[in-house]
Amino acid sequence: MDFSTSEALHREALEHIVGGVNSPSRAYKAVGGGAPVYMERAEGAYFWDVDGNKYIDYLGAYGPIITGHAHPHIAKAISHAATNGVLYGTPTKLENEFAKMLKQSIPSLEKVRFVNSGTEAVMTTVRVARAYTNRTKIIKFAGCYHGHFDAVLVEAGSGPATLGTPDSAGIPESVAQDVITVPFNNIEALKQALDIWEDQIAAVLVEPIVGNFGIVEPKEGFLQAVNELTHQAGALVIYDEVITAFRFTYGSAQQLYDVEPDMTAMGKIIGGGLPIGAYGGKKDIMEQVAPLGPAYQAGTMAGNPASMAAGIACLEVLQEEGLYEKLDQLGKKLEAGILEKARQYEIPLSVNRLCGALTVYFGEGEITNYDQAEASDGESFATFFRLMLEQGINLAPSKYEAWFLTIAHTEQDIDDTIHAVEKAFQQMQL
Ligand code: PLP
Repeated sequence: MDFSTSEALHREALEHIVGGVNSPSRAYKAVGGGAPVYMERAEGAYFWDVDGNKYIDYLGAYGPIITGHAHPHIAKAISHAATNGVLYGTPTKLENEFAKMLKQSIPSLEKVRFVNSGTEAVMTTVRVARAYTNRTKIIKFAGCYHGHFDAVLVEAGSGPATLGTPDSAGIPESVAQDVITVPFNNIEALKQALDIWEDQIAAVLVEPIVGNFGIVEPKEGFLQAVNELTHQAGALVIYDEVITAFRFTYGSAQQLYDVEPDMTAMGKIIGGGLPIGAYGGKKDIMEQVAPLGPAYQAGTMAGNPASMAAGIACLEVLQEEGLYEKLDQLGKKLEAGILEKARQYEIPLSVNRLCGALTVYFGEGEITNYDQAEASDGESFATFFRLMLEQGINLAPSKYEAWFLTIAHTEQDIDDTIHAVEKAFQQMQL
């Protein structure tokens, strides 16, 4: 495959944009370096790059894309919003409509607020929890990425872990001291932390299904125990559903496990591909937020008509009967194909999958927490990533990221991908 135009664009980008990318996870640092592929156009399950190469896309823009790229219903909503003016700075009817849709699909949301990113959404839930409980410390789980605000870049996974800088520079010690990290799926560790810091913990921040050291489900009873222990300690449970909301079902992960947090942060899919975040929760907690309460949060772009229209259109598409079943079937087929080829070519790996999202970990053993994910074989992943890219399969350039299917992927795409996996494994065996 010829990548020469991508390479030229990357050389140019390096002159003007720090590291050549506007988000570090887009760099190919974790897969041997060099120029990332520059995409020019996307439609359905496919990408076309600036050199004219076509790819089947499993990046899904790191999660937001579930309907397939340029879905006509969403595209129409966005162009309608564009011709009506994209930003008013006043409330609009669309915000009410979208807030009602979210509340109907996620019952724990009694009140919501729209922001512009997942980072902002999680950041504000932490502030509101601190305001509500009058406490400062938070507990998070090792390797879970919750955006790039100071408090959560303490032992974070995803991008920071990929780059080998789990703690970012520029974060004051005093901020890090207010964050306690415990291993995911380890209720004893949480109990110990709550015992030590009990009356200082404002909130426990949880990704109910981890998406940032691959897809890792909670063990049976884990989320229920988190709720029970956290509430006993007088703290709030915050769910970061930035990846999980509308990814596995029409609604959130909390419904899949029949457990309710006090607050929920969302993003990604709910923007239909445009910038968005949202947070919500119990009414008395949410009423801490300005203008009703003392916890301040604002945003020039928050609730903008284009993001609202795209989000509403995306959720309308996702209401179609049988859609999550289709994602599950495609995911199951892909998982089975990868495992079969791995057995055939004696490549040690495991696959964690839920519905249309999966992660392939090279190495032995199951992955239920960050330490295990970290120990998986990054070099084999990097080789695999390159071999797949060369065959027109676009994966996220990190062993920690998920493959995201969309409703635009077809059985044929999955067959083609499994064929590419086979060829990659053949090469890896040599
Ligand atoms: N929370 C989770 C679980 C995420 O995966 C991410 C982004 O990947 C964020 C929060 C931050 O969202 P954003 O990149 O929109 O700020």
